Formats: sequence, structure tokens, C-alpha cells
Amino acid sequence: MSGEALCPGCGVVLPEFDGPTHPYIGASPACWALYGELLAYEYGELGYPECHRLTVDAYAAQHPGKREPRSIRSVATHLSGLYLVLERGFDGPAATALKNRVVEAKPGFKWLNPPATDGALTAQDVLEMRSEMPHCDAVELWARSVWDTWELHHSTVRVWVEDALEKVGQNNLRTPDGLPKA
Ligand SMILES: [Zn+2]
Repeated sequence: MSGEALCPGCGVVLPEFDGPTHPYIGASPACWALYGELLAYEYGELGYPECHRLTVDAYAAQHPGKREPRSIRSVATHLSGLYLVLERGFDGPAATALKNRVVEAKPGFKWLNPPATDGALTAQDVLEMRSEMPHCDAVELWARSVWDTWELHHSTVRVWVEDALEKVGQNNLRTPDGLPKA
């Protein structure tokens, strides 16, 4: 129980922690515990805020793990969620509903080589920003910084989502501010 360990996903360095982690989300046990703390804060004190799904999408996209069917599906699904909120401007519940439609349409999800996460915010930063700004603002900053690290794959994610929405007849949806789709 001495020393520090680097999280293979987000790169945060935390004191070594002897605990569980997720079977295919690639997080160190200490980072996974921190994520648990973040979720507990959202479920408890904040009463399940509107940005909760964005928290889940950001964390999973930032911890892609190793190439295997479960992680391919997970990373692709959560990147689709980030795209719907950050690029298309849907709010949490609408983005979640559309994300489910995308997955149902079975786009040809494939493994995307994970980017370096240098410079992106982490779940630890979000917890530390609690005193500085509303929680959902911090989550959006975090999610945006994670989405930016995946820039090389943005066009792939866009095609997955837009093709899938077209397939299920949802492609003409407008964003809440009235902008046409990207
Ligand atoms: Zn991490």
C-alpha cells in the first residue's frame, strides 16, 4: 500500500489502492474508486443531475481498455454519446435516447486506437472543481477535453451516428437551438 500508480486510461497518478476495477474499462483501481466517488456524489448530493450520462460517457471514453468485443462496443457507444451532446447539442435524456437508437441500428463499430490523454481533465479534476463551478459545467469541460483527445476519430464517430440515425429515421432531428445537423 505504498507508492503511486498511473491510471492506464486518464493518466492520473494516485496513491496505490488495493481495490477492484472494471472488467474492461481500463482504469487503475484508485481511479475507479474515484469514479465511484463521483457517481455517489451525483446520485446522492446532486440527486441525479441532467449531466449524469455525460459523466459516464466521458469516463468510459477516457478509459478505453484493451481491444476486445466488449470494449469496442463500449468505447464506440460512449463516443457516440459525447458526439450527440457536444457536437449536436442534445441534452442528456435526448442524447441517451438517440444513443440507444444508434446502438440498435448496429453501426459497424470497430476498435479505434486510443489517443494519448495528456492534457485532458480527469474525474479527479471534476471532483476538485466542485467548489469553483456548478458540477455539470465541470463535467462538460471534462467531457469536451476527452472528446478533443479523440479528434483523429471524430469523423468516424460522426458517420456511425449520422448513418444510424438516418437508418432509424431520426436524421432530421434538430438540435435544441434550431441548428440543422452537422
Ligand atoms: Zn483514470
